[in-house]
Amino acid sequence: DIFGPARKNSQGVATDIESEWQPFQDSVVPFMGEYQWQAGPIVNGQRLKGDTHEITAPYDRNESVGHVDWATAEQVNNALDIAAQAYPTWRDTEVSQRGKYLLDLADKLEANLGELVAICHREAGKTIHDSIDEVREAVDFLRYYPEQAKALQTEPLAYQGFDGQAQSVTYQGRGVFTCISPWNFPLAIFLGQVGAALVAGNTVVAKPAEQTSIIAYRAIELLLDTGIPAGVIQLLPGSGPVVGAPLTEDTRIAGVAFTGSTPTAQRITRTLAERDADPVPVIAETGGQNAMLVDSTALPEQVVRDVLRSAFASAGQRCSALRVLYIQEDIADRVIGLIKGAMAELSVGRPERLSTDVGPVIDQTAKDKLLAHIEQMKRSGKLVTQVPLSEDCDKGTFVPPTAFEIRSIDQLSEEHFGPILHIVRYRADALDKVIDDINQTGFGLTMGVHSRNETTCAHIEHRARVGNCYVNRDQVGAVVGVQPFGGRGLSGTGPKAGGPHYLYRFTQASVNVQQV
Ligand code: GLU
Repeated sequence: DIFGPARKNSQGVATDIESEWQPFQDSVVPFMGEYQWQAGPIVNGQRLKGDTHEITAPYDRNESVGHVDWATAEQVNNALDIAAQAYPTWRDTEVSQRGKYLLDLADKLEANLGELVAICHREAGKTIHDSIDEVREAVDFLRYYPEQAKALQTEPLAYQGFDGQAQSVTYQGRGVFTCISPWNFPLAIFLGQVGAALVAGNTVVAKPAEQTSIIAYRAIELLLDTGIPAGVIQLLPGSGPVVGAPLTEDTRIAGVAFTGSTPTAQRITRTLAERDADPVPVIAETGGQNAMLVDSTALPEQVVRDVLRSAFASAGQRCSALRVLYIQEDIADRVIGLIKGAMAELSVGRPERLSTDVGPVIDQTAKDKLLAHIEQMKRSGKLVTQVPLSEDCDKGTFVPPTAFEIRSIDQLSEEHFGPILHIVRYRADALDKVIDDINQTGFGLTMGVHSRNETTCAHIEHRARVGNCYVNRDQVGAVVGVQPFGGRGLSGTGPKAGGPHYLYRFTQASVNVQQV
């Protein structure tokens, strides 16, 4: 059986069971408080020095997490040479061997869960629950893509054809792949991209987000510990102009996997198009202006629970997060009242506390932008409620969870990447207009639907132009291998991450037709 025994998703830690929680906590504690990491470029297995930048914790800007050296232009250039040299041997390495390094890395992530949770928590400001989920998702990607690669690449795929002819398709790596990943899933998306590119037979130059390079560095150290050839993975922390630009301009690049903002994805596409070199694929996962539609048949209590998780979990810093909640006017007062009450119960504060629902946002720039939007909305919309911040939040970059009523989604000209919810009331007979307005934004990532009317659900799903539609549940937290994730339009190119079609874009196919 080419697929092997059924793969199971990673289990995480049951924080409410003492016998699981205690050993986990003991493994995290040594990496909290004063513990510091030093990170930087890793080229051909060598740890290099560069321009040093301090990383501070989003929940307390006086807490130093460590230092990261940013790669220089010369190091980037060397890294590209090394990755290009390493490519042919890596492409021709057995797919099961390439996969084995990733499977070993998955085991190492689980063995180092305590440290990785601590980094994720301290560097990205994630809650403990989110940090555990982060490692779980990374592990899932690292176990899922080898299985997919094995199915795709072990044997040429044969097709039935005319009598007397045999035809088959072989999928190989493309060359040097650039992986540019975001800070909001600093381990999962980073390793999802890198793992997919590597197992498909590419060598990789990876640029993690400036804010979260420490966790990427530790992941690559662990990957090198698996014995993977050092030439196949180059880690280049640093800035857009010094690292990002050459990684998309250079003619040695054979493809780019990018997760981040829509304007950056558009810039990358333009840059690649202007190179005097092969046209290459860009796999972009970008932003959204995600809506949820709630009709009068929905269960209000369930709606409220799912709205709060969709809009405020991870401090709203998921590209899948709910931004615009549409409520049918017949039940709007009741549901908005319940949302207000539930928001008052949100615990906003230090993310190491297990009871915390909403932690800080990533940095001061993000905070300033979100607060400016809140101010602007206070002028143009109707404030529903704002959760006051406690003293707990004074030292960090926190943004109060806030909800507004607005007239329509077209009042929002961009994605607001934080804990801000916009609410629109709609009349039942305007449902199609509502869906069209949502489509009009050009984004198409996630959508939530709450309705007990199956015809309505099917109609919305059919008319809405979105990548992932979630019915009668929250709209975040896609699960690797069972809920492939990715958008349409301004939200991304596809193929969906964690799904069966993702690896194809990292490969090139050759077809062999033979007269027999
Ligand atoms: N996959 C994540 C989710 O389903 C979102 C990924 C992102 O924010 O880029 O919530």
